[in-house]
Amino acid sequence: MIPGQNDSPQETGALIRWIRDNLGEDTPVHFTRFHPDHRMRDRGATPVAVLERIYRQAREEGLRFPYLGNVSPHPWESTYCPSCGALCIERYGYSVFFRELSGESCSRCGERIPYVRAGG
Ligand SMILES: [Zn+2]
Repeated sequence: MIPGQNDSPQETGALIRWIRDNLGEDTPVHFTRFHPDHRMRDRGATPVAVLERIYRQAREEGLRFPYLGNVSPHPWESTYCPSCGALCIERYGYSVFFRELSGESCSRCGERIPYVRAGG
């Protein structure tokens, strides 16, 4: 999410609704913080408060599994059960830990948590 480029509530709302309506509410959506590196240095990093607003907007618009990136450490870089709030997939930087999961369900409340373990 780039400040002044694609982070307005109108634009992120349209993106979120498009994903929900065309790909489904279970689509995991990773909203990543911009840093002024390489050839785009004409603006600052995305404020964390903006990313938090986008995360809340995604949940309110019905996406079940949004998460944030490039904000470590932050609790919303992880994935939580949309029913009971259990920590299902914990992320810390580039590390990923599978926590409260039993098959494709939340091990605490049984809510369906569709996910794929990448790699072997
Ligand atoms: Zn649960």
